[in-house]
Amino acid sequence: MNAPERAPVNPLERLKDKGLLKTQSFIGGGWAAGGARFAVANPATRQVIAEVDDVGAAGAKAAVAAAHQAFQTWRKTSPFERAKVLKAWHALIMENVHDLAVLVTAEMGKPFREAQGEVVYGAGFVDWSAEEAKRIHGETLPTPFPGSRGWTIRQPVGVVACITPWNFPMAMVTRKCAPALAAGCTMVLKPAPETPLSALALAELAKRAGVPDGVFNVVCGEAEAIGPVLTGSDEVRMIGFTGSTEVGKILMRQAADGVKRVALELGGNAPFIVMDDADVEAAAAGVVASKFRVSGQTCVSANRVIAQEKVADRLVEALAEKVKALKPGDGFAEGVDIGPLIHDEAVARVDALVRGAKDAGAKILAGGRRLDDLGGAFYAPTLVEGGGYDLDLACFEIFGPVASVYRARDEAEIIARANDTPYGLAAYVYTQDIGRVHRLSEALDFGMVGVNAPMVGSPSTPFGGVKQSGIGREGGKWGVEEFTELKYVLLGGVEG
Ligand code: NAP
Repeated sequence: MNAPERAPVNPLERLKDKGLLKTQSFIGGGWAAGGARFAVANPATRQVIAEVDDVGAAGAKAAVAAAHQAFQTWRKTSPFERAKVLKAWHALIMENVHDLAVLVTAEMGKPFREAQGEVVYGAGFVDWSAEEAKRIHGETLPTPFPGSRGWTIRQPVGVVACITPWNFPMAMVTRKCAPALAAGCTMVLKPAPETPLSALALAELAKRAGVPDGVFNVVCGEAEAIGPVLTGSDEVRMIGFTGSTEVGKILMRQAADGVKRVALELGGNAPFIVMDDADVEAAAAGVVASKFRVSGQTCVSANRVIAQEKVADRLVEALAEKVKALKPGDGFAEGVDIGPLIHDEAVARVDALVRGAKDAGAKILAGGRRLDDLGGAFYAPTLVEGGGYDLDLACFEIFGPVASVYRARDEAEIIARANDTPYGLAAYVYTQDIGRVHRLSEALDFGMVGVNAPMVGSPSTPFGGVKQSGIGREGGKWGVEEFTELKYVLLGGVEG
């Protein structure tokens, strides 16, 4: 007789504090039910791990009303008080790194170690913003009018609505919400439907930290219903969005009617340039770090490795060895380097890009296939070489574990190739030549350039893109400034 099949264990059973598992929206300081529910699935197993209430347009309206009401008092709170509340939120996030990382791995698949790293990284924005709340200030100005004085003050923009993606379900939330709250704004957040649990756990911790009711609201449900309420409301003064360029353009158009401020962190097509004087081993390690983190599903992932001819063979050889050594699997399993993609459609998309490259003559040096045997949305860590710069693989964001290498002759060609994209988020350059560091970092049309460094984001530095990669910056003092309006005051009649 066959043993009965064991139902897979729900990874959420790993939570130490079950109170962090929330499945309703967080509106006005309370948990709000909705009519319909939607499923949240673990992409490593396709198992449904939770069902979340969809509060729809009515929930979005209620959240905007709560945020608007709370703004009337939060805007007047002393920055020291706001800093204190944010510090308490930060402390609670750090006390719960394990549980928050469980939620991240369970709902989007990244290896547990990476998920823990994301929670700590995300918490960093709360801590930084708490400090920065106390440093928002204006300036005194010279004026042309006798007997007058002029100065500026920085005030919160108002109610901010933010929409975030699934690839960093904690950090993309804190990178927006913490600086907004620090500036005195109130927030309505719509997380990606794939990863609502992380955002809702952050809301629970915000409540425990003493964030006043209505200051931070999380609404879950369909974008088609919730999005237009947020962009159409007169009470919402700013739209913050991280996601695809395509959706960013839709939101920008919708926000135009109310002339709302927009802050957009959109897609990328990062060149990873390896010059002939580079430390090739370090460059190969850099490509792996940049490309295979989150299974290649980050906006700053190396999308096109451009190697100068003299080092290309050595780089490809070093990369092949490293890529073949990467172990894919369930993010909760020991020794796993690469988790699944977010869902099966993402696997099909990546597979089509690789097949297209192969058909155009590119060589597949590692991987290049789906890993259906693993039982989830897996794709093998892949290395592709050649096929031409006009491949879809080179022109579109891969968003998967596929490194593709192209060759170029000299600096001029490399710069032209790297900039030949409508995107301009991150670029990477590996070189030991200080002249090249300056020439290339100045010539590359990207918002961030990592020189001999494969990761660019941090709480203290500006993150954002140019061209179709976005508008505005997150992180550092700039991230807080985004949520403020600069007001000029002129005082006359000073000298009698
Ligand atoms: P996406 O399809 O643009 O979705 C992002 C969010 O927008 C989701 O919450 C989605 O909800 C929502 N959304 C979709 N259509 C909407 C609409 N018409 N109105 C309002 N909201 C709408 O992006 P994704 O596939 O989740 O994320 C991947 C993209 O994000 C990549 O292009 C990546 O480069 C980019 N990204 C950029 C950064 C950065 O900092 N620049 C960081 C991370 C990711 P629904 O799913 O319910 O539609």
